[in-house]
Amino acid sequence: MNDRDINHLHPDLQPLCRKWLAQCHEQVIDSFVIYTWRSPAEQDALYAQGRTAPGKIITNAKGGQSKHNFTLPDGTPASKAFDFAIRRKDGTLNWSVGSSEWKAAVAIGKALGLIWGGDFRSIIDSDHFELP
Ligand SMILES: [Zn+2]
Repeated sequence: MNDRDINHLHPDLQPLCRKWLAQCHEQVIDSFVIYTWRSPAEQDALYAQGRTAPGKIITNAKGGQSKHNFTLPDGTPASKAFDFAIRRKDGTLNWSVGSSEWKAAVAIGKALGLIWGGDFRSIIDSDHFELP
């Protein structure tokens, strides 16, 4: 099960994530967090996808290299990134990055100063925001 706990985000990212959620919800965009922190072992499993394991390549970050793997010096999970999804009114997930809901959700995140994974040059990561 993916870690979705906002308390496992970096202390600088927690308030931004909560503001992003609140501002999306004010615009009746049903956004929610699907992944916050991940362990280096989980990251290694994702890195294997499309390389030594089935699937397509979704990351160039090995365990410990992803912003999702960040911890505080005392070992507390403190992900510098979160992944999200958007639900339609009928309960299905909206993965149409070109839809008005996605455009608005991305604009809200950028206005809060977050970096959007859809702007990445190597592997486009549209459901990802991270600290600058
Ligand atoms: Zn991510």
